[in-house]
Amino acid sequence: MEQAAVPPTEQVRDVVQAVVEALREPKAEEDSPLVAASSFEADALRTEILRVGRKLWERQYVDGNGGNISVRLGSNYVLCTPTMLSKGDLQPADICLSDLDGNILAGDRSRTSELLLHLEIYKANPKARAVLHCHPPYATAFAITGTVPPNGLIPEYEIFIGPAAVAPYETPGTQAFAETVLPYVQDHNTILLANHGIVCWSDTVTHAEWLAEIIDNYCKTYLIALQIGKPLTFIPDDKIQDILALKRRMGFPDARLPKDAAAEAVAVKNTSELERLVEQVVARLEGRA
Ligand SMILES: [Zn+2]
Repeated sequence: MEQAAVPPTEQVRDVVQAVVEALREPKAEEDSPLVAASSFEADALRTEILRVGRKLWERQYVDGNGGNISVRLGSNYVLCTPTMLSKGDLQPADICLSDLDGNILAGDRSRTSELLLHLEIYKANPKARAVLHCHPPYATAFAITGTVPPNGLIPEYEIFIGPAAVAPYETPGTQAFAETVLPYVQDHNTILLANHGIVCWSDTVTHAEWLAEIIDNYCKTYLIALQIGKPLTFIPDDKIQDILALKRRMGFPDARLPKDAAAEAVAVKNTSELERLVEQVVARLEGRA
């Protein structure tokens, strides 16, 4: 008996279902902390943390044992820097593996007490895959005045950061301190911590460090510009709107965007990504690729 032809839309639906199911399969390395800690991905992330730690120290963004770096590993784990160690002296074996409750699962050293801050950010915003805290002098100078620099002076700052926020002071290392950033963590990827420093989140450790460089350089340049004694010129509003449209397309957070715009940008990005994926799978099934 001849089989009834399956309509193309149903074929696509079946393929999408198969792709979704495949993506739902838990990764093997997520089953065991020790397997996760010794994976190739963990090795690469530890190397990235060491490289970024060195950059923070060389740029004088950390002092003594100050500052800390973490990155998510799969869905369940976080790699983070230990306490009482300069970020310029990190070795791969110093990096701890923690769960999302802050329990150390692998590594000989004690984790940074400020991991609580990182974990609150991860739990509040799934787009945060890496978190970095440091004390860059110019941005921290603003943090001790409880103010942020004005917006609209340099395009790079507008694109990557936009308006910064100031979280109120709390004793570092406490849960109360960790929760001070929660009101800001959706719309801001860079937050000044009053009387303390800054915290940045991004998709990678490298990109989180870029944010620290960008805000500190912006604060520094703004303060130098004030010394010149001439009126500042600001980027025209219509050009700021161009930047906001770009950020919306890229899915970057910005407090000036309408509340639903960031989610919409992510949804559009995910839809086109899904369409591309489906097209690839269909092409493979049809022998076109
Ligand atoms: Zn600190």
